[in-house]
Amino acid sequence: MRKNIVAGNWKMNKNLKEAKDLIKGIKKGVSSKKSKGKRVIVAPSFVNLNSAVKRTEKSIIEVAAQNMHEAKSGAFTGEVSADMLSEIGIEIVILGHSERRSIFAESNELLAKKVDTALANNLEVIFCFGESLEDRKSEKHFEVVETQLRESLFHLLKENFSNIILAYEPVWAIGTGETASPEQAQEMHAFIRQVLEKEYNKELADSVSILYGGSVKPANAEEIFSKPDVDGGLIGGASLKPKDFLAIVEAI
Ligand code: PEP
Repeated sequence: MRKNIVAGNWKMNKNLKEAKDLIKGIKKGVSSKKSKGKRVIVAPSFVNLNSAVKRTEKSIIEVAAQNMHEAKSGAFTGEVSADMLSEIGIEIVILGHSERRSIFAESNELLAKKVDTALANNLEVIFCFGESLEDRKSEKHFEVVETQLRESLFHLLKENFSNIILAYEPVWAIGTGETASPEQAQEMHAFIRQVLEKEYNKELADSVSILYGGSVKPANAEEIFSKPDVDGGLIGGASLKPKDFLAIVEAI
């Protein structure tokens, strides 16, 4: 059955000392008893992953990478492979974040390759997708989301989805302070389950965790998470302060 998940995407923030302090702060507020049945994930930058893995060893906090290259190894200056992540104890990778798509031109096709590589290396994938403001204004949001899923994920086998967490992140709500309303989030999440059911089956559609991302904060988390098809959140800005992040974890 699907789990409630709160994942913090730290992006290119926090130096080593700040990352240690942030983990320390989060650790203080989560315990296996308090956070029963929830997953709490943090995604620091590549250089701080090793330290984060060590510092979360005896806690329920899991550590994810924010990206990964699709090739096994080779002449890809500045890139990091799945193997390198696994070697330092990373078991989760975020793929397809809208900043990777828009700033680094990652396409649905490229993301399909990254997903394959991640799964082949036993990494769980938090797969991000979502429409732009233009798509929403022109009422193409459902079509765009379905295409993103189709072109990057629908070559997978049913069993692969036990290692996929979906994160619906409307681009217009990321880092903008503008949040999709709980109704808009629910509407899209229900649509995503319908698409999964059509392509695979109901059992699979009901078993995949679908996170919402886009300006989730302590003040709006509870209402968004109360929707039946929203299984948690992928949090950017509000994941950088222990107090805010913990309040969001509490809200799920
Ligand atoms: C994100 O970058 O995934 C995100 C949801 O950011 P924010 O919470 O800051 O909108």
